[in-house]
Amino acid sequence: MKKVVILGGGLAGLSTALHLQRAGWRDYQLLEKDSRIGGLTRSESVEGFTFDYTGHVLHFKDEANRELVLQLLGENIHLVQRNSWIFSKGVYTRYPFQTNTYGLPKEVIKECIQGFIEAQFIRAGEGNPALAARTQPREPAEESFEDWIYTHFGRGIGKHFMISYNEKLWSVHPREMTSDWMGRFVPQTNLSDILDGALSDEAKPMGYNASFYYPLRGGIEALPRAFAVGLPSAHIEVNTEVREVDLRGKVLTLHSGEKVPYHTLVTSVPLRQFVKLIKSVPLEIRDAAQDLRHNSVFNVNLGIDRVVTDKHWIYIPEPEYVFYRVGCTSNLSPFMSPAGTSSLYIEVSYSDERPIDKPSVLEQVKRDIRKTSLVKESDRIVSEKCIDIPCAYVIYDRKHKRNVALIRDFLRANQVLTIGRYGAWEYSGMEDAIAYGRRTAGDIVAEDKQIEVRAAEAKTPVFSILIPIYNEEAILERAVREMLRELDSLKASYEIVLCENGSRDQTAEIASQLATIDPRVRLIQCPTPNYGKALALGILEARGENIVCFEIDYWDAAFVRISEALLTKYDAVIGSKRAPGSRDRRPRLRRVITYAFNTFLRLVFGFQGTDTHGIKAFKTSLGQEIVRRCQTDKDIFATELVLRMERAGIYICEMPLEIEEKRAPSIKLLKRVPSTVRNLLRLRRALRDVPSPEVKKESAISHAARTR
Ligand SMILES: Cc1cc2nc3c(=O)[nH]c(=O)nc-3n(C[C@H](O)[C@H](O)[C@H](O)COP(=O)(O)OP(=O)(O)OC[C@H]3O[C@@H](n4cnc5c(N)ncnc54)[C@H](O)[C@@H]3O)c2cc1C
Repeated sequence: MKKVVILGGGLAGLSTALHLQRAGWRDYQLLEKDSRIGGLTRSESVEGFTFDYTGHVLHFKDEANRELVLQLLGENIHLVQRNSWIFSKGVYTRYPFQTNTYGLPKEVIKECIQGFIEAQFIRAGEGNPALAARTQPREPAEESFEDWIYTHFGRGIGKHFMISYNEKLWSVHPREMTSDWMGRFVPQTNLSDILDGALSDEAKPMGYNASFYYPLRGGIEALPRAFAVGLPSAHIEVNTEVREVDLRGKVLTLHSGEKVPYHTLVTSVPLRQFVKLIKSVPLEIRDAAQDLRHNSVFNVNLGIDRVVTDKHWIYIPEPEYVFYRVGCTSNLSPFMSPAGTSSLYIEVSYSDERPIDKPSVLEQVKRDIRKTSLVKESDRIVSEKCIDIPCAYVIYDRKHKRNVALIRDFLRANQVLTIGRYGAWEYSGMEDAIAYGRRTAGDIVAEDKQIEVRAAEAKTPVFSILIPIYNEEAILERAVREMLRELDSLKASYEIVLCENGSRDQTAEIASQLATIDPRVRLIQCPTPNYGKALALGILEARGENIVCFEIDYWDAAFVRISEALLTKYDAVIGSKRAPGSRDRRPRLRRVITYAFNTFLRLVFGFQGTDTHGIKAFKTSLGQEIVRRCQTDKDIFATELVLRMERAGIYICEMPLEIEEKRAPSIKLLKRVPSTVRNLLRLRRALRDVPSPEVKKESAISHAARTR
């Protein structure tokens, strides 16, 4: 069980904690920067009025979420039939606008119906061919929201509600947005419903929130509080803001300076903001985060000394009113305001491009609310509370999908799970936040179980994959993750043994982290740069039945698979760049050196094979026995190993390789000549007393089929 840190005590974070708790997970910590949990689902009590962070009503598509909320809130929740309206042209019409135009001026109704019919013709391709082409179904991420509105509802509904309202709400014009977000949020319609709604005023349940749940007492904050009841207080820390996230070291730095290590990080912090907290972040990710857009909502709450309406909320599309929506929380539950009064929430949206002057907005709101006739001149405002929501609606512009996928994938690869409306950077609601928590906790528990299984397998794996590493910080993590992924597709169990030797960069730290996260990865270390010594150490410490030696930049899952089959017949499989059937696409100089070196080995040592420096696989017990006798180290060690195998009469199979140079050698090849000569002299001394293959007649070299 590894430590999970959850950032943010909104519903998404709380639900993750609760589901972990219920699954028996004990090593988790939830950190919330505010003085109390709840995030956007908090409520403020002012002079007997309870004000939410604007209207928050609960609707469910998934029964499991509904059951959980009903169970948590018990008696403190009730079901409400929606009573929502639109105020335009001085008239109240029912929501949704498109099917409830009754009561609006005749010319408005006519424009809406005519526009809808025209749109249907155009969609069917019977109108203007150019328009018809424009309205061919497109990917939601490509189609502008404006086009979507005109295509599905026509110009009248667009003009009188959809365009104007949405521009006010999002604080950007729908032409700048895509229709990627809408899903269940915008109810679609047909001509029959449009005609019915134009001819008479009829309440019909439509849309995803036709009825909704709401707590009876305590405002919407009753919900996060109910989540927290099931959580031991030691697991929740408020007034705890994260200042920096070190993805590599897997440690958070708090504002207090305290360091908090984690294994898995779950974050509901707004994605744009979260990326800014990361200690060192790739430019591509940083740029993608900077491109993420959102609006803000300035929420003015008013307590009025009279029951002003029976409506739940009213959409206000016209630009002469500063707010886009007015709601009445005292109609959601009778316990939200003193008897005989109303509590109103009024929402004004703004953004960097369309800023508002906050000090004067309150006065403007009070003026405009009286213009709607909802609040009369004679009504007294007995309470007021302004709440700023700096990050309110995520804007789905054309870059949204790509950027969000890029950032979230990058974070996931770094064991950071992004959840909730702002962590996932999406348009979603409370139910989705709860569902994120359930799924995320489930994934964490499932991954842990899988790791346990792998850990058990890793104790006596079929293969020990040895990778000598020296100064590989740039590629190590990616390469190992790729190996793990590819090895998972093989049936055999395995361990990866990283044989680090004297790196001067972050290689050892990265390797150690990889080994901490995954029981299939082990780190063994040799204090000085010495390829041969590190490899020898790896061979001696291998736990697998068989050993496969690779290079970090030359890795081939197929070689492991083929070796598994060959090692049932042979003792060792030596990959060769020179065996018949091999393809060596490295630069000419390297090929010539390989040729010269192997010719030398043949002439001087009686080597019967074609290559000693390639990838190789062998039975661990035999390999360990031979390594104990080896006397050289550094680059020549691999040669001594193969020569000794040959002389020991080990049954060897050479396997031709296809190889190309992925990166230039770190040391100039010609500079290596003196050390190679010295090494060969050492090798000669080392093998002086070992009988040559001519003596060991049973030694066999055979040629297997091509690897790939
Ligand atoms: C105007 C408006 C109206 C809405 N109406 C509805 C509705 O009627 N029905 C509905 O279902 N949904 C509604 N929603 C959506 C709903 O509010 C969200 O989906 C839900 O509350 C998101 O929960 P969350 O936990 O993902 O995010 P949040 O509630 O935002 O929680 C994130 C938490 O992270 C904390 N945090 C941030 N940075 C740090 C840091 N560095 N360190 C530690 N903590 C940090 C924050 O303080 C916050 O508590 C509405 C949203 C808005 C903006």
